[in-house]
Amino acid sequence: MSKPLTDHEKRKQISVRGIAGLGDVAEIKKSFNRHLHFTLVKDRNVATPRDYYFALAHTVRDHLVGRWIRTQQYYYEKDPKRIHYLSLEFYMGRTLQNTMINLGLQNACDEAIYQLGLDLEELEEIEEDAGLGNGGLGRLAACFLDSMASLGLAAYGYGIRYEFGIFNQKITNGWQVEEADDWLRYGNPWEKARPEYMLPVHFYGRVEQTHEGPKWVDTQVVLAMPYDTPVPGYKNNTVNTMRLWSAKAPNDFNLQEFNVGDYIQAVLDRNLAENISRVLYPNDNFFEGKELRLKQEYFVVAATLQDIIRRFKSSKFGCRDPVRTSFEAFSEKVAIQLNDTHPALAIPELMRILVDIERLDWEKAWEITTKTCAYTNHTVLPEALERWPIYMFEKLLPRHLQIIYEINQRHLDRVAALYPGDSDRLCRMSLIEEGNPKRINMAHLCVVGSHAVNGVARIHSDIVKTTEFPFLNNSINEAFESCAGQWEAFKSKRLRTTALKVLKGIFCVVLHCLLQAAPGYHMAKMIIKLFTSVGEVVNHDPVVGDRLKVIFLENYRVSLAEKVIPAADLSEQISTAGTEASGTGNMKFMLNGALTIGTMDGANVEMAEEAGEENLFIFGMRVEDVEAMDKKGYNAREYYERLPELKQVIDQISAGYFSPKEPELFKDMVNMLMNHDRCLVSNFLFFIFKNPKEWTKKVIRNIAASGKFSSDRTIAEYAREIWGVEPSDVKIPPPNEPRE
Ligand SMILES: *Cc1c(COP(=O)(O)O)cnc(C)c1O
Repeated sequence: MSKPLTDHEKRKQISVRGIAGLGDVAEIKKSFNRHLHFTLVKDRNVATPRDYYFALAHTVRDHLVGRWIRTQQYYYEKDPKRIHYLSLEFYMGRTLQNTMINLGLQNACDEAIYQLGLDLEELEEIEEDAGLGNGGLGRLAACFLDSMASLGLAAYGYGIRYEFGIFNQKITNGWQVEEADDWLRYGNPWEKARPEYMLPVHFYGRVEQTHEGPKWVDTQVVLAMPYDTPVPGYKNNTVNTMRLWSAKAPNDFNLQEFNVGDYIQAVLDRNLAENISRVLYPNDNFFEGKELRLKQEYFVVAATLQDIIRRFKSSKFGCRDPVRTSFEAFSEKVAIQLNDTHPALAIPELMRILVDIERLDWEKAWEITTKTCAYTNHTVLPEALERWPIYMFEKLLPRHLQIIYEINQRHLDRVAALYPGDSDRLCRMSLIEEGNPKRINMAHLCVVGSHAVNGVARIHSDIVKTTEFPFLNNSINEAFESCAGQWEAFKSKRLRTTALKVLKGIFCVVLHCLLQAAPGYHMAKMIIKLFTSVGEVVNHDPVVGDRLKVIFLENYRVSLAEKVIPAADLSEQISTAGTEASGTGNMKFMLNGALTIGTMDGANVEMAEEAGEENLFIFGMRVEDVEAMDKKGYNAREYYERLPELKQVIDQISAGYFSPKEPELFKDMVNMLMNHDRCLVSNFLFFIFKNPKEWTKKVIRNIAASGKFSSDRTIAEYAREIWGVEPSDVKIPPPNEPRE
């Protein structure tokens, strides 16, 4: 009998990465040992697996540095148009493996680590996920950074360095319990703090009318400290920058006012200012109008725009002369992409800088702003739309409120000129919503302040265009001429190309739902509890308990998705048609060989188009059917009475079959389903899997048809159609790595 292969040997056998050069392996071992000694200050007797992970991470990082510096020098010399991707979320996951792959180092590292008596995959598992996102929107931003670097675009990701990312989910007695995500506890080897580039961000205060124009005065200052993370392209020597801001109290924070009094208290109060970057709001598709969140949104925008303007001024087109900057070429050199409305304040902030500080007249400033900014819409669900109360702006950002009023006045004047006497239309299209309290509609602000608006799947784009934003119809576009919200429809978004793992097991895993409830979101938590309760019953059933398992995978995150998606055979994408903007998991499953059972919604529509509808299990109502049903009125009870299987399910949940100790536990949920169900979930069907050969055919056809859903393709379209730049396969010359 032959000895079983080690994991390392298995990886070598199936490796398609080529053979590691012996020189590379020796170099990596040397560098690893050097970092263990000098950086980690450990020897092999006392080093922990985590020390080994860090030694390897630093070793790999060293290979990025020369390329990173070189890329930035190259941008300074060539001065290409810079793309700035603004997002409150970057859901990066782990960095080590992606970096090794993109630098072509994976095989050499595997061999070096093996020769050192360690296991690469074990070390990779020690890395914390950078969980600075909730789900699709944040993961999209991460994929886009990857693709922008791989397509050679001079791009920057701008966001917040949350000290605590998305909470860790624990399941206790079947219930979700949240734990703080202290991801920076052991340090982050991939980031570089840049305290020398710290910038001030102002809050509160008041607007003073001076003979030179309005002045925002008596503000409170918080400093924004940049942390840079390298973003390598795939084997092209490009290394772009993701710059995340961290809040830092100024050294005189609260000391001027209270100097006579409490020095200790003033120092303790520094925490208040620094809370701005403390924690990611765990809201996916939900607007929670908290002041701290509005502060976060302005914080990232204010710091980022100062950075952009500084870089523009020091470029050739900005004259490299801070006194005589011409903003004529600004929008030819600078693109700002808004990932949903979260960074929408970039629009009034850019206006404030151009009008109040750079002293451009309003019309010129507005032309520059709209030509620079573009907006991506992520949802049409009303509970997710950002509508900030005016009173919050009055207090926190008084000058921005004035600017938004001015933008709105000019916008409504144009609408009124086009549609005389149509006051309903003025109400619908206003950036300000009447009511108690009065609110600013941030999506309207984005549409009016951008030259391009896009959705995230074709069906979503169509819905937004026809029903959500009335400005997007043709006559208003004419009215706004080139600076109006011009529509660019984009078809899909997709996971980063490198998230592909092909070690498909022989499991028959059916991924049901991967739910993570925002804390306080009662119904979502109840659904998790129901899921685990059903598992308790099914998994202990004397008949099916050994053949069928219902398992809730706790703490879903990027590193778990990378494992579980390739293991899945069936992907359920069953949103009510018209409600899921795109979905992204659907495309990841398709690429990784799962078949889709789904409704004609989001990207499913285009997946069916690419693979052939016969190779998916499409079912349920279409958008038109949903609309018709909405008109007619939906009554869950009808379905309950008509479908015996459905009746049995509902009755069992209701009677406590899955919660024998607490028979009333799911009463609220049943009540919601039967009486207030907006998602029409009772309208379902069953589907049976029979023929494995047919199944495999469909799988192959799906994988073969999944090429369209690469974020590289999406970014190439953004580049050409929104940013006006050409993606390139140009390789930046390799760096001259300093030799020891
Ligand atoms: C892709 C992804 C999501 C988003 O999935 P959807 O199907 O678009 O909702 C959320 N979390 C993680 C970790 C992901 O990788």
